[in-house]
Amino acid sequence: MKEESSGKIKSFWAVIPAGGKGTRMGAAVPKQLLNYKGRTVLESTVLPFLNNENISGTVVVIPAEGSDEPYREMDRALRAATGRGAALVRGGTHRGASVLWGLLKVMELAAGQGLAPEEVGVLVHDGARPEVTQEIINRNIDALKVYNAVCTVTPSVDSMRFSESPPALRSDSGWLIMESKVLDRSRVYNVQTPQSFRLSVVLDAYRKAEKDGYTGTDDASVVQHAGSPVVLIQGDPGNIKVTTRKDIPMTVRTGTGFDVHRFAEGRPLILCGTPVPSSVGLLGHSDADVATHAIMDALLGAAGKGDIGEHFPDTDDRYLGADSIQLLLETKKIIGDWDIVNIDLTIIAQEPKLSPYKDEMRERIAEALEIPEEAVNVKATTTEGLGFTGAKEGIAAIAAATIEGRF
Ligand code: MG
Repeated sequence: MKEESSGKIKSFWAVIPAGGKGTRMGAAVPKQLLNYKGRTVLESTVLPFLNNENISGTVVVIPAEGSDEPYREMDRALRAATGRGAALVRGGTHRGASVLWGLLKVMELAAGQGLAPEEVGVLVHDGARPEVTQEIINRNIDALKVYNAVCTVTPSVDSMRFSESPPALRSDSGWLIMESKVLDRSRVYNVQTPQSFRLSVVLDAYRKAEKDGYTGTDDASVVQHAGSPVVLIQGDPGNIKVTTRKDIPMTVRTGTGFDVHRFAEGRPLILCGTPVPSSVGLLGHSDADVATHAIMDALLGAAGKGDIGEHFPDTDDRYLGADSIQLLLETKKIIGDWDIVNIDLTIIAQEPKLSPYKDEMRERIAEALEIPEEAVNVKATTTEGLGFTGAKEGIAAIAAATIEGRF
């Protein structure tokens, strides 16, 4: 190949554009700041570059506007984890402009080390590809020692078709395409990142693209437009781009709750929103529904949202005599977007006999939480006459809750 590198590259850098608003996710925060396996998507993406000793420095391009604090916080966390941080620069109005700002920052930092753009290699990697491996990074670096422009790809798994014409819009049953041709799948590749370049080559390409008014779909297309061949190298199907919510792994969390209320004359006995005939009821600021309170604490615990006392203090008159099922509905709002997977409840009472009411309790909780009845389990036990429940001084309840979501 004639376009082999003309001189030795002395240092390799990473540019990670993360300036997008991430509107396709439909989330309130940009997708690069969503949680991905315990870190933000962006932090997970930057980390492998900081951990690679062949990479001299990493530049992260952040949104043109808005607070930079989430990104500074990320940088502090990365410095604590790796001993190295990233240089942060503001991006432009579109991806190409953001990449260019990142490349110019690399040029400036490399110049500070006495390096010319011809001596610098740069790996440009999407800010929302958190599964990039050391193998892929090193493969890019090795290829860049030989070629001026390389692009990470994977072979197509699906059969592919190509159409010259846009889809016809049909309101009733989705769009359709009248004419298309079959592509040879063995010769079609999915484009990933990193896409890696000699810095002088990619800077010239971006300048030419700006002059020509050319906007490519990625950096490799910009370099190819400028006349440099792009060498394809092997990526990994696991090197995914977080594009929609389903790309964020499902997380499951559990919580437990425990509550006790004392028996009192002249009070109703309400368990899981169900009135239970009894000569004594339970004393409490609200309706003293000890079972529902345990469930609420289990849900708050699973979501990491504190406890019932913080959210519904018994010093607040709003909760005087409150229907605890209403408080459970409020708890559901507090835990937010998590889906409730199941509830398991044990009510500990010497009396009254609760088994005739367990089905109704289960229905009430399932209805309030909008989950199937099978996802709610209600158990009742005595303590064989032992302890305060055995002495018929009150009732205790223990609950476990499991929730799941993509966060
Ligand atoms: Mg309580």
